[in-house]
Amino acid sequence: MMETTLVIFKPSAVARGLVGQVLNRFERKGLTITAMKMMRLDESILREHYAHLVEKPFFPLILRSMTATPVICLALKGNDAIRVVRSMTGATNGRNAEPGTIRGDFSMSGQENIIHASSSPEDAAAELKRFFRPEEIEDWTPQNLDFIYSPDETD
Ligand code: ADP
Repeated sequence: MMETTLVIFKPSAVARGLVGQVLNRFERKGLTITAMKMMRLDESILREHYAHLVEKPFFPLILRSMTATPVICLALKGNDAIRVVRSMTGATNGRNAEPGTIRGDFSMSGQENIIHASSSPEDAAAELKRFFRPEEIEDWTPQNLDFIYSPDETD
């Protein structure tokens, strides 16, 4: 099913100059960029986004890390995009992530782990709304879609 997922290039990607290399992986895979913007996150949006971690002892480190530089938010569209992007992302801790994944190739850390990627359709819908206004997401289709998918794989 065609889906849109949310990716955030964290300060670990922005500060280390890895945005281009990571973005290139999504483009060459065949995902479509439908939105992209740089922004600064504040405590209130991070408390919402990481609500499941607010009580953890390392939450102050998340706040510090995610506000260190601007981040870049991205909407990516594709068949099964949510699962595909998560599998390209790899395990949370870069030291445990498989080589070949983004975290496995670019990160040595559980916190400084390069990108965030939505983990379920419910999360993706809520996160896209959290970081983008509806009109900021372009619902366009690349002309070469026939060479990315077979006709029975697009809807
Ligand atoms: P994921 O980013 O893989 O979806 P989680 O939702 O569990 O993982 O965690 C969100 C983010 O919080 C992680 O990407 C990481 O930046 C940070 N984090 C999670 N667990 C830890 C931990 N044990 N120590 C430090 N930071 C963590």
